[in-house]
Amino acid sequence: MQSMAFLDTPIEYLKGVGTNRAELLKKELGIFTFHDLLFHFPYRHIDRSQIHEVSELSEEMAYVQVKGKVSNIRLLGQKRGQRLVADLTDGTGRMELVWFQGIKWVREALKENKTYLVFGKPTLFNRTFNMAHPTLDDPEQEADKKYLNIMPMYSVTERMKAKSLDTRTLMKLTHTLISYPEFGMVENLPDSLLQTQKLMPRTEAFINIHFPSSHGMLAEAEKRLKFEELFFIQLRLLRYKHARSVVYNGIRLEKIGEAFNSFYNQYLPFELTQAQKRVLKEIRADVKSGKQMNRLLQGDVGSGKTVVALMSMLMAIDNGYQACIMAPTEILSQQHFETITKLTGGMQLNVALLTGSTSTKVRKEILAGIASGTIHLLIGTHALIEEVVQFQNLGLAVIDEQHRFGVEQRAKLWKKNQYPPHVLVMTATPIPRTLAMTLYGDLDVSVIDELPAGRKPIKTEHRFESNRLRVIGFMREQIARGRQIYIVYPLIEESEKMDYMNLQQGFDEIQKLFPQPQYQICMVHGKMKTADKDREMQRFVSGEAHIMVATTVIEVGVNVPNASVMIIESAERFGLSQLHQLRGRVGRGAEQSYCILMTGYKLGNDAKLRMKTMCDTNNGFEIAEIDLKLRGPGELEGTQQSGVLDLRIADLAKDQLLLQHARDAARYIIDMDPELSSPHHSKLKLYFDAYTRQSRWSRIS
Ligand code: ADP
Ligand code: MG
Repeated sequence: MQSMAFLDTPIEYLKGVGTNRAELLKKELGIFTFHDLLFHFPYRHIDRSQIHEVSELSEEMAYVQVKGKVSNIRLLGQKRGQRLVADLTDGTGRMELVWFQGIKWVREALKENKTYLVFGKPTLFNRTFNMAHPTLDDPEQEADKKYLNIMPMYSVTERMKAKSLDTRTLMKLTHTLISYPEFGMVENLPDSLLQTQKLMPRTEAFINIHFPSSHGMLAEAEKRLKFEELFFIQLRLLRYKHARSVVYNGIRLEKIGEAFNSFYNQYLPFELTQAQKRVLKEIRADVKSGKQMNRLLQGDVGSGKTVVALMSMLMAIDNGYQACIMAPTEILSQQHFETITKLTGGMQLNVALLTGSTSTKVRKEILAGIASGTIHLLIGTHALIEEVVQFQNLGLAVIDEQHRFGVEQRAKLWKKNQYPPHVLVMTATPIPRTLAMTLYGDLDVSVIDELPAGRKPIKTEHRFESNRLRVIGFMREQIARGRQIYIVYPLIEESEKMDYMNLQQGFDEIQKLFPQPQYQICMVHGKMKTADKDREMQRFVSGEAHIMVATTVIEVGVNVPNASVMIIESAERFGLSQLHQLRGRVGRGAEQSYCILMTGYKLGNDAKLRMKTMCDTNNGFEIAEIDLKLRGPGELEGTQQSGVLDLRIADLAKDQLLLQHARDAARYIIDMDPELSSPHHSKLKLYFDAYTRQSRWSRIS
């Protein structure tokens, strides 16, 4: 354990650091110990193994290295225009080195007629190449030689640069650290894993991630450290999942009975899709296994998750248990209630709706019915997780639109029983596989990857401001056919005020173009009181209003099958998955539906790709993958609150294969040795225990 203590040494004790630099390192980069410095990985490396000749230089070259003699050091210009210039000659030609800042310091350090290795970007000026602020090395000096091959570049802040604690200094400090005789990293992966995954030992990886001896070694070091990072996340998730399955016995929902069968045979108004059937089988296998189900059901908007939820709840009811479904808003709960009561109309099923606006009298009755067991199926909002809601015997809890629910809220649901109920979490936000594995790695995942037959794919078009008249004509035509229309305005926090102005302006304009009483328009936005919002929504749901002008509050779950046009204003300001979510509000009925993306002419490359992707595909998973690549995992919907994604080196968009291997390896180990008690896993366990103690781990799922 000696090297552990070594790595915990405060950073001020590193040779070359001292109090001032230590302060900076702590404040600016959060580097407190030797360990922290080692984990400040380079953001890239620069190949300095090649030396170019002056005569070969061209303007296309990025960074190059030239070796030559410095002469004719001179100060040119006045005041602000002042600069230090020196010639560099290498026998093939002459170039100039230029400094605009730190002139005094460079002038003192630079020696006439001495040979230097210079490194920088060549630019052509007056037919002579020059390099501004080049890096200088003394090829004779032993100390400098060490970095001259593949040089690490570290991120530093402006404040650090101002105090001459730059990438170069960090490199030297890191080199000092790994050169101490005490330096070494404790291996945390079992030998067998190093062998099967072909991974470099840990100490070697840390040396090579900073100072690779070749490009190949750099790649190996990266692979090893990425694997390690992903592996411990997976190990923790799977360990957690395993621990949960040991602690909790699941309610055994053995039989398929009257409720399920009569619904399936008599009341289900359509044939289930293959995907719906498959998912139901997966759920069925879970709930009769004797273990608690924790399943995430992903399915694109309109893929038919509700009926899967309902049939799962009927399984619970058939076994004498109650079931509930919780939705994030009043409107959605209301809709679920209507859908479910309609679908199960002729059945002997007692279904109740409990929300914040349920009257006291009805509420009392419902609470009594839940407690006595006369209510079989409860639908509602957050109201369901309040303390007063006591089930007689809750067998299955379904949570719709998962990302609007906090983790703690989910956990409260299952404290409602002696045994925790089975939990089915449904989300319409497709999550790329790698993300799902990391975010929900402790849940089992089912996917509905097929839309019901006969659904007409939504037609998506990208339109510019100059097409607006035609768009308005199109809207009138659709309304004349009895359709309804959404118009959505973007909302970003920094300029909230302005956005509401835009929304109001948009509303006023639409009102002029679509005058009352012929046209009815409603408006909803996040700043409205819930009651007002619900009333406006209701006007649209009921068909009274033709157009709904809204911010993204309509994103989640609202189902108005008669709405066939979604117009998204300033579409370039939305992320891909958000655009897709919005589009999912239409295309729910039998009519051909349309999504129109309105933008200005000037679009960045990313924005263009987003518009193109939307026009090209309706597939949520494809869109999610592209979104992940464009934005990185931290920006994706529903991932923000999770510390799981603060990865140091691995990249969920790029390292999918490695993640799969890490997951498989972790699963293999947890299956064989869930307590990590085998002597073979001693190194692993030691590290794992420390790791789980220190890292943020707030997810309960
Ligand atoms: P989501 O997955 O977005 O929650 P819903 O459950 O609201 O989707 O289903 C969307 C619509 O598709 C509903 O009107 C529902 O009745 C219908 N639906 C669901 N499954 C099928 C099916 N297999 N065949 C035809 N229509 C279906
Ligand atoms: Mg839904």
